[in-house]
Amino acid sequence: SIEKSLNFIEHIIENDLKAGKNNGRVHTRFPPEPNGYLHIGHAKSICLNFGLAQKYNGKCNLRFDDTNPITEDTEYVESIEADVRWLGFQWDNKFYASDYFDQIYQYAVQLVKKGKAYVCDLTPEEISANRGTPTKAGIESPYRNRSIEENLDLLTRMKNGEFKDGEKVLRAKIDMASPNMHLRDPILYRIRHAHHHRTGDKWCIYPTYDFAHGYSDSIEGITHSICTLEFEVHRPLYDWLIEQVEIHHPQQIEFARLNLTYTLMSKRKLLELVQNKHVKGWDDPRMPTISGLRRRGYTPAAIRDFAERIGVAKRDGIIDVALLEFSIREDLNKNAPRAMAVLEPLKVVLTNFEENEVREFEAVINPEQENSGTRKVKMSKVIYIEREDFLENPDKNFFRLSPAQPVRLKHASTMIRLEKIVKNAEGAIEELHCQAIPEPEYQAGGNPKIKATIHWVGEKDSIEAEVRLYDRLFTVADLSEVEDYTQALNPDSLKVLKNCKLESNLSNAKVGDSFQFERKGYFCVDIDSTAKELVFNLTVSLKDSKGK
Ligand code: ATP
Ligand code: MG
Ligand code: MG
Repeated sequence: SIEKSLNFIEHIIENDLKAGKNNGRVHTRFPPEPNGYLHIGHAKSICLNFGLAQKYNGKCNLRFDDTNPITEDTEYVESIEADVRWLGFQWDNKFYASDYFDQIYQYAVQLVKKGKAYVCDLTPEEISANRGTPTKAGIESPYRNRSIEENLDLLTRMKNGEFKDGEKVLRAKIDMASPNMHLRDPILYRIRHAHHHRTGDKWCIYPTYDFAHGYSDSIEGITHSICTLEFEVHRPLYDWLIEQVEIHHPQQIEFARLNLTYTLMSKRKLLELVQNKHVKGWDDPRMPTISGLRRRGYTPAAIRDFAERIGVAKRDGIIDVALLEFSIREDLNKNAPRAMAVLEPLKVVLTNFEENEVREFEAVINPEQENSGTRKVKMSKVIYIEREDFLENPDKNFFRLSPAQPVRLKHASTMIRLEKIVKNAEGAIEELHCQAIPEPEYQAGGNPKIKATIHWVGEKDSIEAEVRLYDRLFTVADLSEVEDYTQALNPDSLKVLKNCKLESNLSNAKVGDSFQFERKGYFCVDIDSTAKELVFNLTVSLKDSKGK
């Protein structure tokens, strides 16, 4: 039934709609902190929040959770907007938590007036030392029973900049013996004499995440505030803060954050990879950032498809990165034009070709699409084949070109048979001399059966390009089990191939264009390409390379 295919959040929403809650409105939000670039985990959250709004005719806000002036930057704001749009979503409203600083301050005053918040002079270290343990009650602050008047006065003076960083905080007055540690008089305001990327120097007190988040949701009329599991234990505080000031009460719902094998998924650690130059930037094609995936050749459709496939879980787990690769492979198999590219070229002289002879063949552009049309590929006296497609001393499982074994050239109905191996002084193979035999002639001649077809590029029909091959950035599947992730970095995650030979049809390729290099994988044109030389990125191999 339809019911069955609903995820647990959709169940909650549909029950709310049936019960007439929120007057039938569905309003979600995606609330990134602008302190880094978005990664594939955020993409999951974006697809979920925007997807629910679309499905239920609701709205979804983009809200920058910019309550920490120290780590935030407009560079990140811009990249986040670009990434959300690129994924194919458009927010109904764009807000900043800092838009609500005045309102949040008013709520703080209300809490103080109700006797539900107090100014505390303990240092952050003392506060955390006094918090107790889950089985042992915390110690109440000696400042806990300050009068409302004194608290109001101190809060005003905190706001007015009379105190230094760390000198005082505002704390909720809840329960120092609560089994939920987050309810043991949590900090609401900290003093930070820091410049904020939007509010400038207006504020020197900044609300904590817990203090600002629920109020921001409420102010925007959010109905379902979807967040990751680690916030489940914060939910009683989320509810408490909203109940105290009696405003619209969004429902916080937690789902399991996305973890992927072989992938780091923390903005802080991704920033370290960039800063410590383990990668070339946030958009390095090896990065799990949305900008990295985009540059790698991932499409928005593939990422959305992946998010849909993995579903919404209530329990933490780890998803095999092969599933992400599967989604892009499916997309590109359907949509990427085909081309022949020889990545590690071996020169082959076709001895029975005249010096200027050219034979032209038609090759289908995309066999997965009707009417994709054909392209021309041209064979002349010199062609290139992949070095690995020839072995001088093959074992019995090698079916490609060898001294005793001719091979078929793709799209050309032509076999080549080895006549001579030319080696240099060190004994390395420099070129092959082969005879080219049209397939009908070969078949008629009672020759050995052909067991393999290889790709090739004609010298007169070729362009040169750089091709960047990527492997996983890490060698360990579950990075949560690794203490120092730098020890798990894959030293061979990037391999740069120069002077690759590509069919000349690719000469007009534009940055971002994707192709299937036949027999090799999917590749896209990198932004480092110049008018003189194209640079391609490996997006994904043709087949699942798991276990290699
Ligand atoms: P990180 O831990 O990587 O720094 P974060 O949770 O601190 O991420 P935010 O900018 O606060 O990053 O996240 C914005 C939204 O994206 C939040 O609602 C958060 O729950 C969600 N999100 C972040 N990481 C993931 C993930 N791995 N899977 C699913 N959702 C995520
Ligand atoms: Mg965060
Ligand atoms: Mg975080």
